[in-house]
Amino acid sequence: MAAPAVDVAIVGGGLVGSLLALSLVNQGRQLAAGGRSAWRIAVLDSAAPAAPESSDGPLAGRSTALSESSRQLFAALGLWGQIEPLCTPIETIHVSERGSYGITRLAAVDSQLDAFGYVVENQPLLALLHRQLAGADIDWLAPCQVDRLTVGRTAQRLTLDSGSLDAGLVVSAEGSGAALAAQLGIVSERSGYGQQAIVANLALAEPHRGIAYERFDRPGPMALLPLPDSAGVHRAALVWTHPEGAQQHWLNASDEEFCAEIERCFGERIGAVRGVGRRLAFPLALQRASEQVRRGVAVVGNAAHTLHPVAGQGFNLSLRDVAALAQELLAGRLAGAAPGELSVLQRYADRQQSDQSQTIAFSDLLPKLFASRWPAVAGGRRAGLVAMELLPPLRQRFAAFGMGSDRG
Ligand SMILES: Cc1cc2nc3c(=O)[nH]c(=O)nc-3n(C[C@H](O)[C@H](O)[C@H](O)COP(=O)(O)OP(=O)(O)OC[C@H]3O[C@@H](n4cnc5c(N)ncnc54)[C@H](O)[C@@H]3O)c2cc1C
Repeated sequence: MAAPAVDVAIVGGGLVGSLLALSLVNQGRQLAAGGRSAWRIAVLDSAAPAAPESSDGPLAGRSTALSESSRQLFAALGLWGQIEPLCTPIETIHVSERGSYGITRLAAVDSQLDAFGYVVENQPLLALLHRQLAGADIDWLAPCQVDRLTVGRTAQRLTLDSGSLDAGLVVSAEGSGAALAAQLGIVSERSGYGQQAIVANLALAEPHRGIAYERFDRPGPMALLPLPDSAGVHRAALVWTHPEGAQQHWLNASDEEFCAEIERCFGERIGAVRGVGRRLAFPLALQRASEQVRRGVAVVGNAAHTLHPVAGQGFNLSLRDVAALAQELLAGRLAGAAPGELSVLQRYADRQQSDQSQTIAFSDLLPKLFASRWPAVAGGRRAGLVAMELLPPLRQRFAAFGMGSDRG
């Protein structure tokens, strides 16, 4: 193969791939100070760039809870000023279990914080990132389907729906079930939870007062995240897990029946539920790529690890990953290494191993702990919720972990 046309080609311009590209663009000044030219970057996505708003009204769309670590990384990229107006701060987290006396309330002020995290709707966030990509000095190819990845000695070749592209490093940010990584034999090891998550936005009669709810119910955990008002509607984002198969009833239920059940689950805490938007269901599984780095190839985002959404960690972890990958690529480049060199990529993998293991273990444990009907486990988790309520240091540690600030 000829010399690569770009240093780094990122397949997938979702939240994670876009942020890796913007992190590399942001390194331009440091590269120039070291007497080097900016990275030559391509981002390729089979979907067209995101529009800033859904055409389906205020109750459409998915949301993500950004941790404090993500806020800091967005700030380092100079993007937080534009993202903050899209966000709702989480000022209080309310954790409870149906039928249990164990309830814990985590208040951000108790941890000397403005907020535990920030809820943002995926579509406007992605649209903002895509506008940044469009304005950056990179090849932003969307829509563009990548059909094949071939690893060569000096470059990796991407075969596109029209033409091809050679890159020193190909980053697979393809999302769950990454087909290109699979072509290289990088398999996705999957362990299903036997659950599906129903995701929908709710219209509430009362303002949410910045409270996020985690509720552990018999069918499975539920999360309710505060969203900004839209068109005069108070809104919250629901993630509701069900045993495989049981979700179908709630996908087909009338809006009235669905809203009444949500009111019943949360009790009086959230007030009346006035409406629900389009309901989508996602099968839940812990998936991990068998390898995250190889010479000339790195795998990030959902393609590297897909987590249970109840702990709200998947994107936040991936953002810390891409920040670390960008830093290792820069350090390698300043030391004269090519971006695809295995030693550079391995330093990234080693650096993130502990964060990934801890975050995955936390996300994996929560739903299992709260799904268990064994009396000993049930008693233990009730005691845990009560202990968190009574012991502020334990509560703060739980909160710190959720914020992405307690990893080692
Ligand atoms: C219900 C739910 C709630 C969640 N809530 C949270 C939360 O609160 N906090 C949190 O941190 N995380 C959360 N997550 C996780 C978070 O959504 C994911 O971690 C994140 O969206 C992963 O983004 P990604 O860019 O890796 O993948 P994707 O968003 O799937 O993007 C992959 C992109 O690659 C493109 N692509 C794929 N193959 C090709 C190809 N061959 N050629 C060209 N383009 C290609 C696709 O078009 C797509 O745009 C949640 C997940 C779910 C399911």
